[in-house]
Amino acid sequence: MSYIEQVRAEVAARNAGQPEFMQAVDEVLTTIKPVVESSSVYKNNAILERITEPDRQIMFRVPWTDDNGNMRVNRGYRVQFNNAIGPYKGGLRLHPSVNLSIIKFLGFEQIFKNSLTGLPIGGGKGGSDFDPKGKSEREIREFCQSFMTELSRHIGADTDVPAGDIGVGGREIGYMFGQYKRIKNLYEGVLTGKGLTYGGSLARTEATGYGLVYIVENMLNAAGNGIKGKTVAISGSGNVAIYAAQKANELGGKVVTMSDSNGWIYDKNGIALDVVKDIKEVKRGRIKEYADRVKSAEYHDSGKVWQVKCDIALPCATQNELDENDAKLLVKNKVTAVGEGANMPSTTAAINALQAANVLFMPAKAANAGGVAVSALEMSQNSQRLAWTFEEVDQKLYGIMKGIFEKTAEAAKEYATATDYVSGANIAGFLKVAQAMIAQGV
Ligand code: NDP
Repeated sequence: MSYIEQVRAEVAARNAGQPEFMQAVDEVLTTIKPVVESSSVYKNNAILERITEPDRQIMFRVPWTDDNGNMRVNRGYRVQFNNAIGPYKGGLRLHPSVNLSIIKFLGFEQIFKNSLTGLPIGGGKGGSDFDPKGKSEREIREFCQSFMTELSRHIGADTDVPAGDIGVGGREIGYMFGQYKRIKNLYEGVLTGKGLTYGGSLARTEATGYGLVYIVENMLNAAGNGIKGKTVAISGSGNVAIYAAQKANELGGKVVTMSDSNGWIYDKNGIALDVVKDIKEVKRGRIKEYADRVKSAEYHDSGKVWQVKCDIALPCATQNELDENDAKLLVKNKVTAVGEGANMPSTTAAINALQAANVLFMPAKAANAGGVAVSALEMSQNSQRLAWTFEEVDQKLYGIMKGIFEKTAEAAKEYATATDYVSGANIAGFLKVAQAMIAQGV
């Protein structure tokens, strides 16, 4: 049995019942094989055993009261995965599907993503199975405060710096920051994604979506192409999806689909983003309302956006939302590029089908790293007690995404094939963390 197979078997045995985590581990272990097998240094330092086991997994009770006075309990998580290259960094997800497997897959991927940004940030992730949908302002606030009451013991500006993710935007970060400050009597950059009046960075809201489109544009440019004139299918209608759509339109693409967990819209004239923003960011409504307001749009409550003919597909909702059948449909409809805005939105079989059909495929670790990169820039600004302009941050974001593309493409060329960006991103991300772990000893 090879070193990789042996570690894979041990990780599977130790983490039974964690399919998402194993999916993420399998993808990394399979693709870093050429590097790991090129030198005994990785085995001698037990790098794979150590990188697949979190430094710390914290699970805690989150009690709160609903508007009817009933006491409710959710489970909170923070997985501090690896801090070889910087303080733990990664978002907090509030969604009923959250469990340890999902938080661990996200935390594991975050190690490599954060490494790829070139910034000094380690990997972590957290959240809760609390469902924010349908909750009142007061219920959200009380939940966030209770969650932070426990989380505050484990985090800090130089220890672990959480951010937003599904279900956690500026409002939730604000409540959590307020509670942290109250408990610790410390005004420090302990969370990112903060409001602009209290230490947030300009362009953080836009960063993940913009970054996704920047790297897809770089990938297309390398193939002698670009986004201009292309039809783009996007899933989701949250933070990542909205700003990916905005930047894709700015670069001359035409975004024709968006979705939420109830259904999806197709607008042949191109999605009117001001309407989507009003529904989602202002009214916190459902995407269905778009079709009530825009005549050229269709609403579907079954099927997926991937059945629409497009040149570029950007999955920006959640994990495993694009499966093998969806990939085959996209290929049949002549898609040329797929960029993952969400974390692990494509199943392994879908990635294989897309790559086999020579579709340019940019994996999440590289493609959505713009969000955490600007979070790291928010940390820098907080430490310096400075605030940079939107243009300064956006320009840095562009440079970081270009750098990620170049590192990914170089590693792909050296260890796999020139456009195998899945291997390229995993290898480039892994090498830096592994070198730091070796340098620091056990
Ligand atoms: P939001 O909560 O703002 O939006 C999520 C969107 O995806 C909503 O439209 C939501 O629909 C939909 N969605 C969520 N869960 C499901 C589901 N189970 N089935 C179908 N649709 C679903 O989250 P973000 O935009 O911040 O995050 C989207 C993805 O991007 C996630 O995978 C996240 O981990 C990843 N990501 C986010 C970053 C960020 O900076 N925000 C950074 C890097 C990655 P509904 O409203 O109906 O739930």
